[in-house]
Amino acid sequence: MDIDPARSPLISVVIPLYKEGPNLRPLLSGVTAALAKTGCPFELILVDDGSPDETWKIISEEAQILPALHGVRLSRNFGKELALCAGLERARGDVVVVMDGDGQHPPALLPDMVRLWRTTGADIVEAVKINRGQESLSGKLGALLFYVILNKLAGVNLKGASDFKLMNRRAVDAWLQMEERNVFFRGMTAWLGFTRAQIPFEVPGRVGGETGWSFLRRFELALTGISAFSSLPLQFVTVAGLFFLIFSVVFGIYTLVLQLAGKSVSGFATVILLLLIIGSLLMISLGIIGQYLARIYEEVKRRPRYVIANSTEPPATPHSN
Ligand code: UDP
Ligand code: MG
Repeated sequence: MDIDPARSPLISVVIPLYKEGPNLRPLLSGVTAALAKTGCPFELILVDDGSPDETWKIISEEAQILPALHGVRLSRNFGKELALCAGLERARGDVVVVMDGDGQHPPALLPDMVRLWRTTGADIVEAVKINRGQESLSGKLGALLFYVILNKLAGVNLKGASDFKLMNRRAVDAWLQMEERNVFFRGMTAWLGFTRAQIPFEVPGRVGGETGWSFLRRFELALTGISAFSSLPLQFVTVAGLFFLIFSVVFGIYTLVLQLAGKSVSGFATVILLLLIIGSLLMISLGIIGQYLARIYEEVKRRPRYVIANSTEPPATPHSN
């Protein structure tokens, strides 16, 4: 650690918020109370991900009262990953904690995370879920399937991983060097490596509001995650092609021999079956290639990752309790 031991480290807490208006004030008091326990100066970076509700109004009101609060508002809903990105780019702390604003990441864990960071000197302290909270069965199964696929394909183990993490300056700076548009926070921090310490936590239910993730968005995130971390699905296309080449040679010889012997191949069914199998394989293969093409297209456009609409004045001096 390159932190001067005589100086208390500045802690930044980054929270992406989408339609969290009703939860926001209790969340803020929970987080500030927990941070006060660490005895370190801190700053709160709240990113309003284009919420249609009163989230931004509350953030700007609270910023008047709490000098340690810095709020930014994205011009529309860019999704949690990009909101996180906006927050991380603004964090100035020696350590940065990233957490959800829906009460599912208990602020009470913050002092323990900071303590663990100070005692172990780990670059990243991860809060690991020991349960997945109140989630639908399909949500749990979907998540499991996704983790298994990602683990097999990319060797990135995300089981139990959450977006509740503490990262030191070195880890944050390394994270910020990744310039991709398809941001997948959990996967990207796993890819970074560095030394890690883990702290288990139980996921409580959301305190209010509703999850901003529909099934379709989860599916999209899973596809982004997989295509961003592995090109193995592309090999699938090659392997399937090779397999069918061998098959077609064998079948071709068989058909020719039958033909020469004066017998024709029996069965209209065979033809239809072959057509269907090859047709669907071709479609799937094209789809897989399309996935990667779409990712490449998004990256080469080099658009900004997000657009800021508003921000509160940054705090002049870090707030200390
Ligand atoms: N969130 C966001 N933008 C979105 C969706 C969610 O910033 O488009 C925020 C949300 O306000 C919360 C965090 O991301 O602070 C986690 O969201 P949620 O609880 O809906 O996700 P889950 O816990 O189901 O993964
Ligand atoms: Mg949640």
